Amino acid sequence: MIHYQSTRGSKYIKTSAQAIIQGIAEDKGLYVPNEIPGLPFAIEDMIGKSYQEIAFRIIRAFFEDYTDEEMEACVRGAYDSKFEEEEIVPIVKGGDAYFLELYHGKTAAFKDMALSILPYLLTTAMKKEKEDKKICILTATSGDTGKAALEGFADVPGTEIIVFYPNKGVSQVQERQMVTQEGENTHVFAINGNFDDAQTGVKKIFNDSSFAEKLAEIDCKLSSANSINIGRLVPQVAYYVYGYIKLVERGVIENGDKVNIVVPTGNFGNILAAYYAGQMGIPVKKFICASNENKVLTDFINTGTYNTNREFFLTNSPSMDILISSNLERLLYHLSGQDGEEIKGLMESLEKNKKYTVSPKINYALDRFYGGYADVKRTNETIGHMYNKYGYLMDTHTAVAYRVYEDYVAYTGDKTPTLIASTASAYKFADSVTESIGLEKGESGFESVKNLYEKTKVRVPAGLKDLENKEIRHTGVLDIEEMPDAVYDCLK
Ligand SMILES: *Cc1c(COP(=O)(O)O)cnc(C)c1O
Repeated sequence: MIHYQSTRGSKYIKTSAQAIIQGIAEDKGLYVPNEIPGLPFAIEDMIGKSYQEIAFRIIRAFFEDYTDEEMEACVRGAYDSKFEEEEIVPIVKGGDAYFLELYHGKTAAFKDMALSILPYLLTTAMKKEKEDKKICILTATSGDTGKAALEGFADVPGTEIIVFYPNKGVSQVQERQMVTQEGENTHVFAINGNFDDAQTGVKKIFNDSSFAEKLAEIDCKLSSANSINIGRLVPQVAYYVYGYIKLVERGVIENGDKVNIVVPTGNFGNILAAYYAGQMGIPVKKFICASNENKVLTDFINTGTYNTNREFFLTNSPSMDILISSNLERLLYHLSGQDGEEIKGLMESLEKNKKYTVSPKINYALDRFYGGYADVKRTNETIGHMYNKYGYLMDTHTAVAYRVYEDYVAYTGDKTPTLIASTASAYKFADSVTESIGLEKGESGFESVKNLYEKTKVRVPAGLKDLENKEIRHTGVLDIEEMPDAVYDCLK
């Protein structure tokens, strides 16, 4: 049976249910499967199958300790009519690429793909493990995870959810989505700092054993809804497999042909899921990692040195304003040949010196990846050009991906059919998108949503309608040092 182990060499092994409850390993590493399972079916047998059916088979292949009945219930609960498109993930041609539209869930970003199933996976795991403590989900967000986690966990029995977002580091629509969140067990705080500060603060709380003891006294236990939780990563593998099957079904490619996959990347979770799909057996030529001005990953892929000693930029693709991409640790672990000691050394170097350089072995294996970036100006041009030429509307993050893809094609001449992860509705970043297609931006983000609709008639996601009139329920602002006390106060 597949089991889960830490990227930093701890000898403890866990079932998937245990790893999902725990979130992060005791040695601060991330849980990874000891092997990536092969595809549990032949592609040709899956032609015409639904998203739910494919997702069930893929997730089940990784989480072998869940029974078929348990996994079916999780998938059924997650991927239902809360998605505004019946097919869950439409695949739409725009320009020269196929867009895997991952944003038709409740919060209009791709985070819903994983966070609508994580609460089911977690509560099922708690039953399986006879866990009777209350589980408190701590989440740092660059904008989209927070809202998707709040929606997923709101009023789920036996859980509390606490979200920290960078004050002034998210779009107006994103912020309003979070601070209007309903549910008795939801808590939201703005943090005086950027996303990396919030994420580091959350990791510190996780790694503080005396804090964990204090929580145990009030029958609470921490877990994570960030992509450090393996229960979030694995469901994302399903849509890349699904995308490949649909391209075969539509005759764009023949079964066995290679595709390229482009992912607008922040914490490296989404592109790692694409890599896992490739390891399962989906034929992929290049994994194209697209960044905004915070191009630490572009430089890493090109040089083998990961260096966060650099200026941090606030861009109009805020969910990618990240310098410490947590899930890269998992990729390095796999590429090193599962060398936990080596990864531990790299991560210690990152903590101490804010940088590390990988071994030649890892650097060589990074060849499957192409890294590129687009700044705000080129991103906005791309949104305008795509809309005006092809009538396809992209959000800022997806536009970063498309621009990097165009650069890749210009540089390599590679015309392999390409899937692009489309990660958010354009309405979430309405100010930038409105201006990019040549309209006046509104007085507020909400007015931009209206202007954008008037012009494009693209449907406004239900969750973004009437946002400006919703009651604001969360107003807390904290310094980083105040985070632990705030957590304790929410739970006691
Ligand atoms: C989170 C997010 C990303 C980055 O995804 P990672 O898995 O963190 O790399 C990109 N685009 C949008 C819209 C997001 O919400």
